[in-house]
Amino acid sequence: MFKKIFKNKVIRVYFGYGFLFFITIAIFGLFIKTTKINDFLTAVENKTFDLRQSLLVSSGQKKASNDIVLVTIDDASYEYLLGKYGEWPVSRDVYANLINYIEKQKPTAIVFDLMFIKSMKSKTNADLALVNAIKQNNNVYTSMNFDNQSFEVRKPVKLDKKFSAKVKNDSDIDFSKDLTFTNCRSILQQILDATANVGAINVSRSDDGILRKVPPFMIYQGDFYPHLSFLVGLKYLEKTKNIKVNDFHIDKNNNVNFDNRSIPIDVDGGAILNWYGPAGKTFQEVPLYKIIMAINEKTKLDFNFKNKIVYIGTTAVSLYDTKSVPVDKLYPGVEVHATYVNNLIDNNFIKRVPFSADIAISVILSLFIGFITLRTVSTVIALGTTILTTTGYVVLAYYLMKFFNLWIAIVLPLTFILFTLISVYVIKYILKSRDFEHQYKLATTDGLTDLYNHRYFQEQMIMQTENCKRYNSNFSLILVDIDFFKKFNDTFGHQSGDAVLRQVSQKLKKNVRSTDIVCRYGGEEMGIILPNSDKKEATITAQKICRTIAEKPFKLASDKEGTVTISLGVSTYPEDGQTPSEIIAKADKRLYFAKENGRNQVGV
Ligand code: GH3
Ligand code: MG
Ligand code: MG
Repeated sequence: MFKKIFKNKVIRVYFGYGFLFFITIAIFGLFIKTTKINDFLTAVENKTFDLRQSLLVSSGQKKASNDIVLVTIDDASYEYLLGKYGEWPVSRDVYANLINYIEKQKPTAIVFDLMFIKSMKSKTNADLALVNAIKQNNNVYTSMNFDNQSFEVRKPVKLDKKFSAKVKNDSDIDFSKDLTFTNCRSILQQILDATANVGAINVSRSDDGILRKVPPFMIYQGDFYPHLSFLVGLKYLEKTKNIKVNDFHIDKNNNVNFDNRSIPIDVDGGAILNWYGPAGKTFQEVPLYKIIMAINEKTKLDFNFKNKIVYIGTTAVSLYDTKSVPVDKLYPGVEVHATYVNNLIDNNFIKRVPFSADIAISVILSLFIGFITLRTVSTVIALGTTILTTTGYVVLAYYLMKFFNLWIAIVLPLTFILFTLISVYVIKYILKSRDFEHQYKLATTDGLTDLYNHRYFQEQMIMQTENCKRYNSNFSLILVDIDFFKKFNDTFGHQSGDAVLRQVSQKLKKNVRSTDIVCRYGGEEMGIILPNSDKKEATITAQKICRTIAEKPFKLASDKEGTVTISLGVSTYPEDGQTPSEIIAKADKRLYFAKENGRNQVGV
């Protein structure tokens, strides 16, 4: 069955192309994987992600949650606080008052994207006020930060187990690479004693410095610690959806599972954020100074914090806590964290499809483009299809992100398509030139004997005479005619005649120089052009040929054998004529003499 299919030439050819194609793809893949090109492609792919995100944001479809509000330490608040208290950071009773004020309105959580590091000297009472405010409310969250600071500078603290998370990890994510830290920028011990609501605020940046991911967990001293925003999101889910979380399971497909939820994280352990808008235009904001004024001067604040997640952080440019994100160059850290919380509560994280899916898509698209380009003669159709397909694919990638939060690669498939297009055109070019060679051979050779044909003989005669005229040299012509061939045909049949004709032709070729041109002049007559040969040399060659042909019998169509002889005539430029026809006529005349003289000889 397979043998039968394989006998089909078309199938064999396509099988060959398919094989070639996969070999090329494999080499290409290896090339990409082992060189810097991979980094380059990743960097460009990231840019296409940023572009998709920017387009999505400007399409205005995604809205940030109404349940999140930022209390911003913006430029105005910074100036106000500096003016009022004469120092920065301000003493911590300011934050204690803030907590107490907001708590009256029953918020879901109050989250400080500020770190209360160490005790502020001579302000122990203010610190205590903050500690008490935190102790009294189980929905206040503060932050710490992991890093790899030298032990000489800072001794690593031992963190209480209550801050860690129970995580079962079945994925291939390598937490030991970027997510394991040796040191911790810890905070005021009294706060650590007062609450379990402390989370890390580490973020991860891509090689180009742009922040696209935030890790849900990192490892410190052998335990998993959750991100602050992750904790806050969980608090929200607990309150609104009654989701209670004690432990987490990261499955084989890099999903963090808890309760009935599943959030995707990338191969490096970071959750890819889905952005809602540019800085300052995304979340509801209340500048801190307005609340301080409301507290101190008992004015009425035009905002209600009931059931809100209240995120407190700096947005003032002078306080320098900004990052570059896909949708904005200067994006405050507190908005990054709010985006993370928003993604978590709306189940909005981006899922990067696995590398194998990217490869599969790339191969399918390349096969399609390759097939169309190979089959169609029209470059317009081939390029048109390619442009349509790639555009369609890019649009699809955009909508997959828009409606399904899916990130499929754009750069890899497009590179594959480009590569395929180039390969197919190279293949086509090779095929065309091979076809051209074939056509040329058909036009210049004789089908029966495989010698050059009459037309080629005439062309060469003209070329030789012109060359010799110009360079003042000579060439010779030997005309060959098989003796009594009519009779031979009559005796043994035309098939045997043909066989002998072929064998005589091959023998002629074998017995002259490779530069000599052996042609079938017509019927059973052959012409041999010998460039740069005088009469003497040509005559010796002719005599040698004459002997060789007569010497051995030829194989006939049936198992029989038979001998033939030939008669030959030689002429030479310039002594025998100035034009091809004169030279041919002279050789023909001498061939006639050979026949007259008894055949099987060179005529003179
Ligand atoms: P001679 O040249 O010795 O005078 O005798 P001859 O029988 O060869 O005479 P002539 O050249 O007139 O005849 C040529 C014969 O060659 C005629 C034809 O039967 C045979 N012939 C020509 N072309 C082919 C061919 O392609 N195949 C076969 N089998 N025979 C051919
Ligand atoms: Mg003849
Ligand atoms: Mg003959």
